[in-house]
Amino acid sequence: MIKLTKRQDEILQIVKENGPITGKQIADKLSLTRAALRPDLAILTMAGNLDARPRVGYFFNHNYEVKLQAEKFLHQKVADYKAHPIVVEKSTSVYDAIVQLFLEDVGTLYAVDGEGQLAGVISRKDLLRTAIGNKNLNELPVSVIMTRMPNIITIKPDETLLEAAKKMISNHIDSLPVVKELEQKTDTYLLIGRITKTTITRAYLEIMDQKLG
Ligand code: ADP
Repeated sequence: MIKLTKRQDEILQIVKENGPITGKQIADKLSLTRAALRPDLAILTMAGNLDARPRVGYFFNHNYEVKLQAEKFLHQKVADYKAHPIVVEKSTSVYDAIVQLFLEDVGTLYAVDGEGQLAGVISRKDLLRTAIGNKNLNELPVSVIMTRMPNIITIKPDETLLEAAKKMISNHIDSLPVVKELEQKTDTYLLIGRITKTTITRAYLEIMDQKLG
């Protein structure tokens, strides 16, 4: 992505609002000569920001704009979009976990141990599978049915939404715990958030709406 100069930004704005517009008309609006403007127009046309048609003038390239927005979306950091994780103690009963899932209106719960470290993931299907097994849901702790460390796929706050999306799709999962590594020990993580498929969709809409909405 090329960083545009202030003048190139001004040209883009003029073409966006007035296009199709000739080079001469753009130059007049900026109180410049056509010759002074020529290098900038050449750069913007080559980069794809503008389309030029002989005898008609310059057009704003909306597809290019969409591409820039899409790139911007993909480079957003997990830290800026993460939501609060809904957690339960790993000794919580499966019954109480199901109640929690409904109360919090989420699809996934995270189990933590006494110090708030990520211990497991409990999804809708984990709970359904257990519930149809006719077990005593009040007696059974979630630690027995959850997906445990080291099998949990995690994401760090400084990773991008693109990396989060790839991890969810390739592992067939709906959400990722956002974690901070605890220095001394390996495979122990502090749970600091969650990213879900909804997070990704919402971020996409927000960014696209900023320019196109
Ligand atoms: P659902 O069960 O509602 O379809 P998921 O597709 O997210 O939700 O979960 C599918 C399975 O993957 C479950 O057994 C769940 O415990 C496990 N799982 C969910 N998230 C993760 C994760 N981040 N890392 C590892 N396993 C996960």
